[in-house]
Amino acid sequence: MAAGIRLEQVQKFFGANEVIRKIDLNIEPGEFVVLVGPSGCGKSTLLNLIAGLETLSSGHIHIGGAQVDDTPPRDRDIAMVFQSYALYPTKTVRHNITFGMQTRNIPKPDQEAAVDEFARLLQIDQLLERKPGQLSGGQRQRVAMGRALVRKPAVFLFDEPLSNLDAKLRIEMRTEIKKLHQRLGKTVVYVTHDQIEAMTLATRIAVMDDGSIRQFADPATIYENPADLFVAGFMGSPP
Ligand code: ADP
Ligand code: MG
Repeated sequence: MAAGIRLEQVQKFFGANEVIRKIDLNIEPGEFVVLVGPSGCGKSTLLNLIAGLETLSSGHIHIGGAQVDDTPPRDRDIAMVFQSYALYPTKTVRHNITFGMQTRNIPKPDQEAAVDEFARLLQIDQLLERKPGQLSGGQRQRVAMGRALVRKPAVFLFDEPLSNLDAKLRIEMRTEIKKLHQRLGKTVVYVTHDQIEAMTLATRIAVMDDGSIRQFADPATIYENPADLFVAGFMGSPP
């Protein structure tokens, strides 16, 4: 199942610094929303607020219709993939992926089946008995995605997941992520500073600047009808 996400006047201060400036945002179930904007504009902070890794200064967040303002990350129906994918170096790939599951109530054979299913989907089923040190960067990123996928959450949050990969792999993984979204139909919020990634992946793009969303629209609208000069300049279309 996919879940919608609703942000209501979401505000975040770090000390006296207002990093997120009362943002309203409504994401439909199954959407692929890409957050773009220059470095330091608040993309990661906004994602971390949705994940529950940062606390709100004010405002409200709803996931799947439930208010989650005080819900700890593990009880929000989400999984997050970061740029730096911390895998356990001494554990096998299978172990690393299994770790993503809340295994307490899941019988062992079902755990194994889930790992096998997603390993096949991510084309790492031949690598399950290896250790992370025996994998390429792209393969490691697939393992990190596998670990997020096996939780079968309603929402996926990605923070620049491809920025450590070389150009060729980045394009390959971009295509994979798009296919996965089409196949699984989960809600995705995806942070990047790469305009091409945004244009190819998003159902809607939120262009951020200095803690605010300047425009939230589908890629064609952003490109053809930028709301202001900032959006036009950032997304590389003529003003
Ligand atoms: P982005 O992901 O768009 O590059 P961030 O959300 O990481 O931006 O950062 C937004 C602003 O908040 C920056 O000015 C950054 O320095 C500041 N910031 C981020 N995290 C913290 C923190 N834990 N403490 C203080 N300031 C922070
Ligand atoms: Mg960031």
